[in-house]
Amino acid sequence: MNRPFDGPQAALNVPTFVQHRRLVDWVAEFVALAKPDSVVWCDGSQEENDRLCAQMVQAGTLRKLNEQKRPNSYLALSDPGDVARVEDRTFICTDKAEDAGPTNNWAAPAEMRKTLNGLFDGCMRGRTLYVVPFSMGPLGSSIAHIGVELTDSPYVVVSMRIMTRMGKKVYDVLGTDGEFVPCVHTVGKPLAAGEADVAWPCNPTKYIVHYPATREIWSYGSGYGGNALLGKKCFALRIASTMGRDEGWLAEHMLILGVTTPEGRKHHVAAAFPSACGKTNFAMLIPPQGLNGWKVTTIGDDIAWIKPGADGRLHAINPEAGYFGVAPGTGEKTNPNAMATLHANCIFTNVALTDDGDVWWEGMTEQVPAHLIDWQGQDWTPEIAKETGRKAAHPNARFTAPASQCPSIDSEWENPEGVVIDAFIFGGRRSTTVPLVTEARNWEEGVYMAATMGSETTAAAAGQQGVVRRDPFAMLPFCGYNMSDYFQHWLALGEKLAQKGATLPRFYCVNWFRKGPDGKFVWPGFGENMRVLKWMLGRIEGKAQGQEHVFGVSPRYEDLDWQGLDFSREKFDLVSSVEKQAWQKELELHADLFEQLKQGLPAALPRTKKAIEERLSA
Ligand code: GDP
Ligand code: PGA
Ligand code: MN
Ligand code: MN
Repeated sequence: MNRPFDGPQAALNVPTFVQHRRLVDWVAEFVALAKPDSVVWCDGSQEENDRLCAQMVQAGTLRKLNEQKRPNSYLALSDPGDVARVEDRTFICTDKAEDAGPTNNWAAPAEMRKTLNGLFDGCMRGRTLYVVPFSMGPLGSSIAHIGVELTDSPYVVVSMRIMTRMGKKVYDVLGTDGEFVPCVHTVGKPLAAGEADVAWPCNPTKYIVHYPATREIWSYGSGYGGNALLGKKCFALRIASTMGRDEGWLAEHMLILGVTTPEGRKHHVAAAFPSACGKTNFAMLIPPQGLNGWKVTTIGDDIAWIKPGADGRLHAINPEAGYFGVAPGTGEKTNPNAMATLHANCIFTNVALTDDGDVWWEGMTEQVPAHLIDWQGQDWTPEIAKETGRKAAHPNARFTAPASQCPSIDSEWENPEGVVIDAFIFGGRRSTTVPLVTEARNWEEGVYMAATMGSETTAAAAGQQGVVRRDPFAMLPFCGYNMSDYFQHWLALGEKLAQKGATLPRFYCVNWFRKGPDGKFVWPGFGENMRVLKWMLGRIEGKAQGQEHVFGVSPRYEDLDWQGLDFSREKFDLVSSVEKQAWQKELELHADLFEQLKQGLPAALPRTKKAIEERLSA
């Protein structure tokens, strides 16, 4: 075998399956900076995975779960300060601040490089650097893109193996000079000679940095999923959204599902909800009593790459290979497909441990275990919880599970051509104001709906929870460029598709989270969301009726199928009313957003706003 790397890079122990000189040069350069004790070139094999897991069990990072109950699965308890994405520490480093836009943290690339070079200098001392090659999208597919992550976290390695197509095969696609997105990650905790490691190393200082011009990602100080598994939010959303802007496609924070009517007609929808607002659940929906002939299949639960095809339609793929899902609230009643997916080969983070070596979280079972070890490693009982309000699992506790284990997985989920999208759904978590479902009258109104969407903040990101903020397209934390340009990109895409004469996807806005006077959710949600989905498909097929109101078309009570569900007109009014005063306030919030984004804001948006205002005061 030809060994091109025998010179000064011999110490890197480059395996023969790596033949990419630029990649090896980059690793060598990074090794000189980070100064790890050793370098491991990951091949993605089961043996490698088992070895790393065993090592992490030794180190206290992982705990192996009961092999009978949860085969080949592990529990990780993180540092209590490293449990979510850190949006205020996430940076988009473009040459000009305007290109990042007012909704992103910006820093000048040269400044940031100086800062990070300082922080990364020697950051891997006492640790092993892992070279992790991965593909976002099916290996070798024309829609897929390759990345290589250098990390000092074995937790990241085994998680990337679940979440992406990771391993040796990627080098076959890369060859000697293929394109890849370079990603570097460190927990930011070098070890002095003889210093003992902690179970979850991290650093209170965190940086999640993107250089869109060079398509580079640098992540410092966190081991948490969204901050550390760089294929996901950093690459497949922030960097990919800028690639999409330049190349005419979309990288979106969307689940993708297939839905088949009782007569066998299949449609596909892509839905954007902010983090912890229901994507994974909706993607795995099981139709309820009364709608038994319907079937929902899962293509993706978090990210969609969407490209216009030669047919003038939009084709979507899921670039991921696993689910990094919110554990709390996931149970047999709410999401049986997720529960079945979790039967084996999973990593659980910040959930509770049962006395028989299995996992538990709030909402998993109705019966609450009498004793647990909670996510902070402390004894937990229902009595303690009552007294202290302590949760057994962190509200943003997560499971990492292979998509292939999902019973509702769509037969087309790895089709490199993707599936044709018939509808886009946008949804926020709103206890008031926003009705259950509204259809936009056209693309422009749909873009307006998505652009002005608000949602109450959740535990998926560090910071205050339950505060309504604008989260355009559920992309506020994930858009790698100026949000106004992003709106324009969507509008231009609609025009381009319209010119081709194909049927455009419709836009819907949903809200599962309206609350009643008692402070409880009125809409039963989960499987019952099928009733809303059925109405949407009815609209698309030209069968379902609705009523026009100020910002679109919504179903009347009699337009939804209530078979098998006892849901009164009064309750329906609670979740679907459009109140003038509330909407006047809402429009003021839209105005605030447009003020913030005024530089480069497409005229179509204020124009649509004006039309809504006129209808509202008529
Ligand atoms: P994702 O982060 O967007 O994928 O959201 P998930 O599907 O993981 O759901 C986040 C949280 O919202 C979980 O606790 C779910 O149980 C809860 N959830 C999801 N769908 C619904 C719904 O339709 N109604 C209600 N009330 N809660 C939901
Ligand atoms: P989620 O994914 O959208 O499923 O919560 C993780 C995140 O967005 O942080
Ligand atoms: Mn997400
Ligand atoms: Mn999810």
